[in-house]
Amino acid sequence: MAEPANRRSFLKKAAVAGGGALVGAAGLNQIAPRIWREPLAFETNRSYWARSQPPMNAPLTSDISADVAVVGGGFTGLSAAYYIRSIFPNKRVVALEAAGCGNGASGRNGAMVLTMTADRYMSFSSDPAIDKRIYDLTAENVRTLSKLSAATGIDCELRTNGALQVLASSEDIKAAKAYVEHARSLGMPVEFWDKRQLVDAIGTEVYEAGFFDPSAGHVHPMKLVHVFKAAAENAGAEIYENTAIASIERGREHLLHTTSGRTIRAGALVLATNAFSPRLGFFRNSILPVHEYVAATSPLSEQQLAEIGWRRRIPFNDTRTEVFYLGLTEDNRIHIGGGGPSYLFNGGLSEAGETSAHFAQLHRELTRIYPKLSDVAFEVGWDGLVDWSLDESPAVGCMGKYQNIFYGIGYSGHGVNLTSIFGRIIAELVAGREESWKGFPFLNASLDYIPNEPFRWLGAQAGLAWYRLTES
Ligand SMILES: Cc1cc2nc3c(=O)[nH]c(=O)nc-3n(C[C@H](O)[C@H](O)[C@H](O)COP(=O)(O)OP(=O)(O)OC[C@H]3O[C@@H](n4cnc5c(N)ncnc54)[C@H](O)[C@@H]3O)c2cc1C
Repeated sequence: MAEPANRRSFLKKAAVAGGGALVGAAGLNQIAPRIWREPLAFETNRSYWARSQPPMNAPLTSDISADVAVVGGGFTGLSAAYYIRSIFPNKRVVALEAAGCGNGASGRNGAMVLTMTADRYMSFSSDPAIDKRIYDLTAENVRTLSKLSAATGIDCELRTNGALQVLASSEDIKAAKAYVEHARSLGMPVEFWDKRQLVDAIGTEVYEAGFFDPSAGHVHPMKLVHVFKAAAENAGAEIYENTAIASIERGREHLLHTTSGRTIRAGALVLATNAFSPRLGFFRNSILPVHEYVAATSPLSEQQLAEIGWRRRIPFNDTRTEVFYLGLTEDNRIHIGGGGPSYLFNGGLSEAGETSAHFAQLHRELTRIYPKLSDVAFEVGWDGLVDWSLDESPAVGCMGKYQNIFYGIGYSGHGVNLTSIFGRIIAELVAGREESWKGFPFLNASLDYIPNEPFRWLGAQAGLAWYRLTES
């Protein structure tokens, strides 16, 4: 079946470019990680969502021992801490976050709560029965998010009225029709929407058709972080913020060192550090930490909203390689993300040059979709790191000589919903209950190889250049 265009082609090209260079310089690839160590640095989250940061916990100030140490206070780490404590109420579970919870992608994203995994979104693999199981699993998890929000009493503004993928080309329309027909025959409730339905729901006349998934939705990401933080703490997990792990000595018992000189001994380690993992020496050859940009307007008036006609408040993304995604907050701000991503040498954080070009691109796209908003400026813009795997497939599992390192990785910009499923799987793996997850492609999946610097940078730049060319 034809597939809509997406980032997979970009990343594969990036790999080919990097891999090609590698052939001539395999020796340098081997020693590169010792020459270019990735900096252990964390930038402050300046997103609109960060204004709802939950009250911060104190940092770790003594040396401790725990049964499980979770590194990273995003959706993966907090949900893993919650589920592990739910299974083992007597185990000491500590979560350690370098800045504040939600400082990474979990508190900076595009707020779309999606079904499936990135590599299988609107595309069937060679095993449609598994695709259907993943759809059911991810659709069910959206309901779990609602229940958790209710149980903690924290309203994370989860709206479950679906999400749209607007189709950018006639090939995408053809592919979406075929996909929907197949998906519905398997019992997936997705729909193909014509232009009239699109205009009725989101107002814009720019697109001819769309793919609608009624099981998806929109959330306030930082309030969802708050839900998981509260759930983990209510279950008895300890969370330390402003506690960065500088290094990990792996063993039957791990020894974690914080940047302030404290230590944590733990029999099990949960690595929930997403795009930052290579900085701790993990997954350097499995993921590419790519910067994505998002911006949000001030609240629109009821009249402005009525004029653009975004009546059903459904979030949407398009099918272009340089994907754009848009949503509406509860107080009527429009946020738009995507466009041209960047990769900085050695996983660098700040761009030396201007980032305003990215926000200008987002504004051009916003006014292309809604010309009536040409006078509306952005109030805030930010960026975040995405952990791209080469074919956009994620992985969750257990590794290490003593099989006591648990991880979830490779969400590839599609993790708001999937992360807490992986948090649950991690907890079940800690409990030795792997059985029910066997057969899912992400369980202990090995991700495709990404070379070290400078080949990683060269490959990514080549891919991005190709990207811009084909998109203009
Ligand atoms: C701009 C952007 C837009 C996105 N839009 C969407 C979307 O609309 N829908 C969707 O489904 N997905 C989206 N995603 C992806 C989604 O946000 C992520 O997949 C998800 O949040 C990953 O959660 P996580 O907990 O694994 O990682 P993170 O949220 O990145 O958490 C990792 C945490 O680990 C901490 N950490 C790292 N190293 C250390 C250390 N050494 N010591 C202590 N702490 C450490 C970091 O500070 C961070 O808080 C987007 C991502 C970005 C960046």
